[in-house]
Amino acid sequence: MSTVHTATGSIDSSELGRTLIHEHVFVMGTEHQQNYGDWDEQARVADAVSRLDELKALGIDSIMDPTVLGLGRYVPRIQEIATQTDLTIVLATGLYTYNEIPFQFHYTGPGLLFDVPEPLTELFVKDLTQGIADTGVRAAFLKCAIEEQGLTPGVERVMRAVGQAHVQTGAPITVHTNPHTQSGLVVQRVLREEGVDLGKVVLGHCGDSTDLDYLTSLADAGSMLGMDRFGLDILLPFEERVSTVVELVRRGYADRIGLAHDASCFIDWFDAEAKEQAVPRWNYRHISEDVIPALLERGVSEVDLETMLVTNPRRQFE
Ligand SMILES: [Zn+2]
Repeated sequence: MSTVHTATGSIDSSELGRTLIHEHVFVMGTEHQQNYGDWDEQARVADAVSRLDELKALGIDSIMDPTVLGLGRYVPRIQEIATQTDLTIVLATGLYTYNEIPFQFHYTGPGLLFDVPEPLTELFVKDLTQGIADTGVRAAFLKCAIEEQGLTPGVERVMRAVGQAHVQTGAPITVHTNPHTQSGLVVQRVLREEGVDLGKVVLGHCGDSTDLDYLTSLADAGSMLGMDRFGLDILLPFEERVSTVVELVRRGYADRIGLAHDASCFIDWFDAEAKEQAVPRWNYRHISEDVIPALLERGVSEVDLETMLVTNPRRQFE
């Protein structure tokens, strides 16, 4: 039992229910949208509410939304949506980059032109302990990323700030990783150096890999594996995603797995029609409609499903 901050206030961790550990509501470049975007605020909010309602009707109670700086986080809009749906939305703080740090932090920080304590850590801790901007909404977890480019100076600075904010607050961490470059191992090393409890770390996008040696070594070090891109069949087909989860469960790793799609109601990274053609099942419904039935059919038990959907997400906050 412990408190989890959500977009509509605090709940007890036992109230999270069935939770998808990595879903966005909106992913966008705010500056791009302001200059080139075609954005209908009312329509987008209504669309999000109906999609989240649909997800709730399919039996999912909560999502963890790791939309942070770099992905277009705008909490007042999420707050408005959250008050209109029964689905619980848990928000994050952090910064999403594969390369450099944004210019807002480029010259300011330890050893830089303006030599001050790490401003990223201060902002993350403020979001977790006081609230995001003046919304009164507190972030409940931390997010950063590492991609093919590896541990660039910018990526490392963000990751260490995330680790320090975790040490100060106890908030769990989700990291976007690229399993094909085994970057989960880099994440575990850096966060361990910062004193992070690896049991509070989700290594996101592990589900893009079928490399069981890699995946079990990460899980053996305590981290949760994000099998969190169901529907992105273009990166790894459905059958292989399902088989990997089935095999991990068979080997006793159900307590190290979290499920999600990494989907969104709107993302400006791709043309909407091209996306629909390329990844037609990349939406909030796929796990409930296709993945859970497939897992059950392949021998995953209801108890294992409960572990992956309820117990593991909840444990991160306890
Ligand atoms: Zn994501």
